[in-house]
Amino acid sequence: MSATPPPDAASQASPAWHALPAEEAIRRLGSAEGGLAAAEAARRLAEHGPNRLPETRPRSALRRFLAQFQNLLIYVLIASAAVTALLGHPVDTAVIIGVVVINAVVGFIQEGRAEEALHAIRNMLTPRASVLRGGRRATVDAAELVPGDIVLLEPGDRVPADLRLVHARGLRIEEAALTGESVPAEKAAEPVAAAAALGDRASMAFSGTLVTMGQGVGVVAATGAATELGRISAMLGEVRQLTTPLLRQMDIFARRLTVVILGVAALVFAIAWLGHGQPAEEVFLVVVGIVVAAIPEGLPAVLTITLAIGVRRMAARRAIIRRLPAVETLGAVSVICTDKTGTLTRNEMTVAVVETALGRFGVQGQGYAPEGGVLWPDGRRSDDAARLLVEIARVAALCNDAGLCQEGGAWRTEGDPMEGALLAFAARAGEPHEALRAGFPRGDEIPFDSRHRYMATLHMRPDHGLVCVKGAPERLIEMCTRQRGADGEAALDAAAWHARVEALAAGGMRVIAVAMRQVPRGTGRLSPAETERELVLLGLLGLIDPPREEAVAAVAECQRAGIRVKMITGDHAATAGSIARQVGLRGAGAVVTGHELDTLDDAALRRRVRESDVFARTSPEHKLRLVEALQADGAVIAMTGDGVNDAPALKRANVGVAMGVKGTEAAKEAAEMVLADDNFATIAAAVHEGRTVYDNVQKVIAWTLPTNGGEALTVIAAILLGLTLPLTAVQILWINMVTTVTLGLVLAFEPAEADIMRRPPRPPSEPLLSGLLVWRVVLVSLLVMLAAFGIFAWSEWRGLPVETARTAVVNAIVVLEIAYLLSVRSRGGAFFTGRGRLATPALLGGVGAVVVLQLAFTYAPPLQALFATRPLEPVADWLPILAAGLVLILVLEGEKALRRRLGARRGAGG
Ligand code: ADP
Ligand code: MG
Repeated sequence: MSATPPPDAASQASPAWHALPAEEAIRRLGSAEGGLAAAEAARRLAEHGPNRLPETRPRSALRRFLAQFQNLLIYVLIASAAVTALLGHPVDTAVIIGVVVINAVVGFIQEGRAEEALHAIRNMLTPRASVLRGGRRATVDAAELVPGDIVLLEPGDRVPADLRLVHARGLRIEEAALTGESVPAEKAAEPVAAAAALGDRASMAFSGTLVTMGQGVGVVAATGAATELGRISAMLGEVRQLTTPLLRQMDIFARRLTVVILGVAALVFAIAWLGHGQPAEEVFLVVVGIVVAAIPEGLPAVLTITLAIGVRRMAARRAIIRRLPAVETLGAVSVICTDKTGTLTRNEMTVAVVETALGRFGVQGQGYAPEGGVLWPDGRRSDDAARLLVEIARVAALCNDAGLCQEGGAWRTEGDPMEGALLAFAARAGEPHEALRAGFPRGDEIPFDSRHRYMATLHMRPDHGLVCVKGAPERLIEMCTRQRGADGEAALDAAAWHARVEALAAGGMRVIAVAMRQVPRGTGRLSPAETERELVLLGLLGLIDPPREEAVAAVAECQRAGIRVKMITGDHAATAGSIARQVGLRGAGAVVTGHELDTLDDAALRRRVRESDVFARTSPEHKLRLVEALQADGAVIAMTGDGVNDAPALKRANVGVAMGVKGTEAAKEAAEMVLADDNFATIAAAVHEGRTVYDNVQKVIAWTLPTNGGEALTVIAAILLGLTLPLTAVQILWINMVTTVTLGLVLAFEPAEADIMRRPPRPPSEPLLSGLLVWRVVLVSLLVMLAAFGIFAWSEWRGLPVETARTAVVNAIVVLEIAYLLSVRSRGGAFFTGRGRLATPALLGGVGAVVVLQLAFTYAPPLQALFATRPLEPVADWLPILAAGLVLILVLEGEKALRRRLGARRGAGG
């Protein structure tokens, strides 16, 4: 608005940030160690625009429309139109063209909606970034980052903008997205030569690259299109294809079908022309009719729509599909491997007890609110106990990266909920963390890693340094030599501590041990070797994290559905076993530890994995081994994960499932599906929808093929037997066009059948066109043909003109289609079973539309002229037509009832 350039305009010329000292970079970017003030960040956002790459241009509408014609089925139809035009039958040509265009329009609109749905879902997955603003840690949408922001990096993060590193500890970043180099590069805050190539700029972290290890802090130097990635952003045009193995399978099937149809048509032509000596042109037109009748031109579009609806339904239930094939695979899942913390439990942690050599403290308080108090061991406050409690609270609050904040009266935690619980506990013990952190400035740290299972920090005091460690108790007990007790420090009694751990864990508590050690003044760095020895064990914190109620129900639902649920956790075996029992896992008795897994060879592992459902103290590498062992056993696996190290297991699993809230970008990118709420119940819901989608795909196919099959058989039989055609080519096209866009789409919207989660998972090897399906297609095709000839013969016998007879046949076929639709909606059960399923809006709308269209077809003069139809009599004509529909339902339902009876007998017989 004002003409004067902003103060940092000079920096827009992009100095070689990597060659500047970090402090200089911060100064030039007009920032500070504590980050920008909120108001300044907002000002800069307005100035620089959001931190987003310009969107890759979507396909133009015209290109998308034209793509609808790129299909062998359509080519054949277009060729037919050309042939009929050459032979001088403009009505046929017009109708064929009409069908092709309507089909393309429907495909275009629906595909557009499907793409939109996927796009909207992608927007649900916007990356977030941890920043310092006004000295406080906050999580913001990565798009809101501005130059000068201070960003915190952790393993698994996608670097959200180009950063000049201010601080780096063991930081390694994989820059393949930028340099193609897949070995992670080591990073450090020291400046490098100005001439360094992109891959050698160790003092920079570039947007779009992936943090694999360590921690870092950097100041944002460039955002959006100004980043290195933005300069080559063309490569980020991640195209989402609307295709899946199932659709590909259908594509191949359709192509084969077309070849078969052309072959059959040629054969019929030869027989009729050469054999029966009918005039070539007439026969040719009829053959075109066969081709047109037999081609299921609407099928590909309806299938795509069915899958897209599945994706939308899953998103509505908080399961976000990142790769379309997962929609199908979910329906075949036979094993779900899930985390414990936050997935089966609520991840709302509270420290309930503190176990020490002096006895057990109780902790009182609600949620993350800093208010509450402690209950002293044996109900008496002693000076020893008070001193010990303060020390424990200090370590809990200092060796901690979380924050607490109050929002609308409720206390929330910023960062790891477990660490948040430790801060709340420290406050309840009289040691609020803000004051502590100011008095004990942090010099160095070893971040938590699920492989070494502890976190350590080094703090500066005027006369000494203090190492604070918290982590898995078995780990810490190994690292300690002494303990704090009644008379100050004493030698460690490891056995007593192990017993305390077992007692807490058996009650389902998550147990964290805290320890410390004084080090000489001036110790500046913390190395694992220096940290993991001669610590003084202070106590154990027992945290409760109740199971999610909906997870308990979902576990039961999965088990009814023949899906095994396995818990794979880094937590203690007893804690894992207790929570497993609470949520109702079957093999909760025999907990297998990561330690034991290491001793098993692949054959033994496969056996063990079959028996047990709970795996504790595992590392991400174990997850990968478990997936492989299960897959070797033929299982289809959904596996959850959140950390950067989980990515290989997520990729390997049939459906990798990442946590949307606590998951890292790395895990989300490796996953097929993201849980918006981290909740196990959402996985079960997605499986439910996945099964429904697969059912509906089968139903769409089962319903579409006999329409075409029946019509084609009718025409072929008529030609071969030398009879008058019961319906014309344009009438066939009318039926196909009208029924696929009305009745066919009904099946895409079908709700789940009542038994969807009570049947066993579908075997992954099951062919799409099962024997049962093929049999029904053949049966219904034959019945449609019989009905067509029957109605035609009946009309002729009554002396009606051929046009009226054909009108009756077309209506009869459509009525049979409706009848078959009602029956096909339930796989095995009677068509009227299932509450709320009989009259879905889609069904009423579809059938209503087709009835209106058929009445128009029969009675409206313009359509009568176009399709050579005649009005029908209410009783004499319509009654037999409706009766034919009824007979079809009775036959099909009778067949189903027979199967149920036989199935029940076979089941009873063993
Ligand atoms: P999970 O999430 O499956 O429970 P993790 O791998 O996250 O398992 O944790 C394994 C163990 O490491 C926990 O049981 C706990 O003892 C310890 N731990 C977890 N988070 C931290 C942390 N931030 N600091 C120290 N120790 C931790
Ligand atoms: Mg964890």
